[in-house]
Amino acid sequence: MRVVLTLSLLTLALLFSAPAQAQIEKLFASYDCRFYEELDLDDESADTISSFVAAEPVLVTAPELIITIDTINGWKNWSTIENYTFGKDRGGMPMITELNALHPYFRDKIIALIKDCREQGIELAVVESYRTHAKQNEYKTMGKKYTRSGAGKSKHQYGLAVDLVPMVDSMAVWDDVALWKKVGLAGERQGLRWGGRWKRPYDPGHFEWTGGITTAELAQGKLPAFANKDEHYPCIEEDIKLLRKYWKEWEVNQSSLARR
Ligand SMILES: [Zn+2]
Repeated sequence: MRVVLTLSLLTLALLFSAPAQAQIEKLFASYDCRFYEELDLDDESADTISSFVAAEPVLVTAPELIITIDTINGWKNWSTIENYTFGKDRGGMPMITELNALHPYFRDKIIALIKDCREQGIELAVVESYRTHAKQNEYKTMGKKYTRSGAGKSKHQYGLAVDLVPMVDSMAVWDDVALWKKVGLAGERQGLRWGGRWKRPYDPGHFEWTGGITTAELAQGKLPAFANKDEHYPCIEEDIKLLRKYWKEWEVNQSSLARR
């Protein structure tokens, strides 16, 4: 007989504190089955968890960690920010800052980056994660300093890029090159591409990962490959399917904003 336990979610929740805390706590628990680990109840630990034994596998978890799967309206719970939240003009449409809006593998790299920086005393805020075509088009109309890519050409539109900013005394610090360098190196240690290496535009808050595939391939719906996929992300196909559904909802929502 077998029982299913959530382990990593608890561990993850303990690792982080504000301001990314709120996001980390609901880390993809809704539809990512990699948090579950099977235990063989024939061993000595059987007694302590026997009350959970049932004919069907039972999800054992702390009550506050039980998260209902909302495959219909889940996208509405994604965190967003309004223009000027971090002191810069980023256009009229809200920016999605939800880390769960990212490809799960990339999201976990970003969480590791946030944690690495925190250990160095650097707090990071998420400025934008997933970006709709409508939002990308808005940036395009705002000029080259915002983006050089039209709709469908930014990694943000595939959940494979994120913009971060270091926070000091609750203020975003955009112009400290030495600080950016530390953040950038932390990202590169995770194997991410860092926009601080670019000249046009120099984009030190931007991190992306594509698993080596091109933007054209992404536009065709191809997904990046990565190591240990089956071991750590057994539900990746389902996760991406639901993510795409949420992305589409956001697209509908923001393109109606664009028409107003
Ligand atoms: Zn970016």
